[in-house]
Amino acid sequence: MEVGFIGLGAIGRPIAKRLAEQHRLTVWNRTVESAQAFADETGATVAASPREVGTGAEVVFTCLPNSPEVEAVLEGGGGGTNGDGLADGLEPGALVIDLTSGIPSSSKRIAEDLAAKQVAYLDAPVSGGTSGAEAGTLTVMVGGSEEAFTRALPILQVFGKRIEHVGPVGAGHALKAVHNSLIALHLFGLGEALTALAKAGVAPRKALDVINASNGRSFVSERLIPERVLTREWPRTFRLALLDKDVGIARDLMADVGVEAPVLGLVSELLHQAALTLGDEADHVEVLRIHERRAGVELSG
Ligand code: NDP
Repeated sequence: MEVGFIGLGAIGRPIAKRLAEQHRLTVWNRTVESAQAFADETGATVAASPREVGTGAEVVFTCLPNSPEVEAVLEGGGGGTNGDGLADGLEPGALVIDLTSGIPSSSKRIAEDLAAKQVAYLDAPVSGGTSGAEAGTLTVMVGGSEEAFTRALPILQVFGKRIEHVGPVGAGHALKAVHNSLIALHLFGLGEALTALAKAGVAPRKALDVINASNGRSFVSERLIPERVLTREWPRTFRLALLDKDVGIARDLMADVGVEAPVLGLVSELLHQAALTLGDEADHVEVLRIHERRAGVELSG
């Protein structure tokens, strides 16, 4: 198939690489050098504008920080007046699949605008991290029509293992934001728990061994903290600024649907403060550095 891909960042790049192995891929990235390096490695074609990605494409993926960036790429330069936006190039019958962890209300707006051009749209955020993208084992949560989902399924299987149609347009984004707020909750809970236990004489490795054999365990306790914090490796795979954005989306969603969310509100404030303290490039797991500093202990071992 003729496939387009926009946004070759930490997670977009490995997803696009798998797509390039099976389809004719045309890519566009804000920083053109990254697109060129990707094309040199995979044989993909580099487009001069988002419009060029859309022209002749059957399916176009977007994988950008958030929905405003997706809307800007669809519109192109000059707020849609230059004719170089992705939407300017798309032809009737095309399908746009947005892998961004974005905003449900924006995805509804985007879907309506594209429907006017007879272009279908799915919000299809992913979970499983950069390693899951490389291995083709991502979880994909899809919002949109049954018909578009059925059409998209074979190409989503190129990088996804568990692919779920979770509701209408916006449902994928809603689920992803709420899911990621649970990761934030576990990071903060375990940061407090492990630093307190270290001061009480329980070594972090021993504490996690016991927690992970018991019912308080989570992906954060089983994988993220042992592999990234205890080892002091702190790899940068998912920016804290993006998790902060996700939790903000979840918080807005709770307000929109009228559900009181005091726990999420607190986590959101703590996370936002951590993002300001640690900076734009910090990884999400680095929030535990703040707990370490505050308690004066190192969670190693
Ligand atoms: P990165 O910050 O690594 O990459 C962002 C990408 O968006 C880059 O290609 C960047 O281009 C491009 N970009 C940023 N701003 C603009 C803009 N204004 N206009 C056009 N392009 C822009 O993010 P990730 O790849 O990590 O994340 C992408 C999405 O996937 C996010 O919504 C994130 O929450 C989600 N996600 C990420 C996961 C991960 O493990 N990293 C896991 C699951 C979901 P440039 O190269 O020029 O900077």
